[in-house]
Amino acid sequence: MSAGFRRTRGRAKGAFVSLLELRDIEVEYLRAGHGGVRAVAGASLSVDAGQVVGLVGETGCGKSTVARAAVGLLTPTAGSIWFEGRELQPLSRRARSRRDARLQMVFQNPLSSLNPRRRVGDQIADAMTILGLVPAEQRRSRIADLLEQVGLSSDAANRFPHEYSGGQLQRISIARALAAEPSMIVLDEPLSSLDASAQAQVANLLRRLARELHVGLLLISHDLMIVRHIADVVSVMYLGLVVESAPTRQLWTLPLHPYTEGLIAAIPRADGTNGLPRELPGEVPDPAHPPAGCRFNPRCPYAVDRCRIEQPPLLEIADGRRVACWLQDAPGSERRPSEIRFGRGSAVQDAGS
Ligand code: SF4
Repeated sequence: MSAGFRRTRGRAKGAFVSLLELRDIEVEYLRAGHGGVRAVAGASLSVDAGQVVGLVGETGCGKSTVARAAVGLLTPTAGSIWFEGRELQPLSRRARSRRDARLQMVFQNPLSSLNPRRRVGDQIADAMTILGLVPAEQRRSRIADLLEQVGLSSDAANRFPHEYSGGQLQRISIARALAAEPSMIVLDEPLSSLDASAQAQVANLLRRLARELHVGLLLISHDLMIVRHIADVVSVMYLGLVVESAPTRQLWTLPLHPYTEGLIAAIPRADGTNGLPRELPGEVPDPAHPPAGCRFNPRCPYAVDRCRIEQPPLLEIADGRRVACWLQDAPGSERRPSEIRFGRGSAVQDAGS
């Protein structure tokens, strides 16, 4: 089977397939006086060792909530999360076990996740000390190794965070995560606060870490171009739901969901042209009041009556390809939504019937 996703239906309960698995998770926030908001209404994905999985979508689609749930910072209201074959338990105040610490997270803003008053080396050493991973006499050289792995001089160990640029701080955050000897790192918008040059450097670093250390990476980003560059597999979220997932090249060349098609078409091209549609019309609806039927229907150029009534399930329609759209309900005949809509024997008729 190709990289990334595994068929979930029919699997024995609890069977371990991937390093990290999210099985149809939902996360609901309570708002004072306003009831609950389902920030995540159904997300399934998996990450294998050495694989980079990108999770993309517009701001507010629920992808950062998925990231926090994936490391135990939030407890799903439904569904389950499995890490290294065991169901993930919510983080508590107790010290994390070595196994729990093998699942690490890197946050969007590296400056706020590092202590400005402590030297970089001391912060990297914390995981080694708490988890008892490296004998005290070897810690200094291990810290130097980690700093070099992320492209920094070993001198950085004696400096303070404020002495570094955003890109360098993100490298330090990654070195700190690596100090716990993780098998899996969840990165929440790790490049969004960096300039273009630092983004490229950290993106290359992430790819190298996955390949050389065989660490699984779940990369949360709103930037499809960055994810295209780094990820082996991409999942697309819209308004709390995963609506499409596929190996990156396939998703890029043949998007099957109208939302994915619109996201890709909206990226400016070097020659100044864009595909169809040029932009996604309308705003993302309020997650507290999602539309009936398919959540994308108010913005979808191909919506038919059925789309306003029934929510399409996320179906595996080809090896490693899953999509939730009434246009794509025939396995083995994947075509772009625009091709289906405007081509002969339009599947829109079938979808609407
Ligand atoms: Fe558009 Fe209907 Fe597909 Fe939803 S199910 S994406 S509204 S065509």
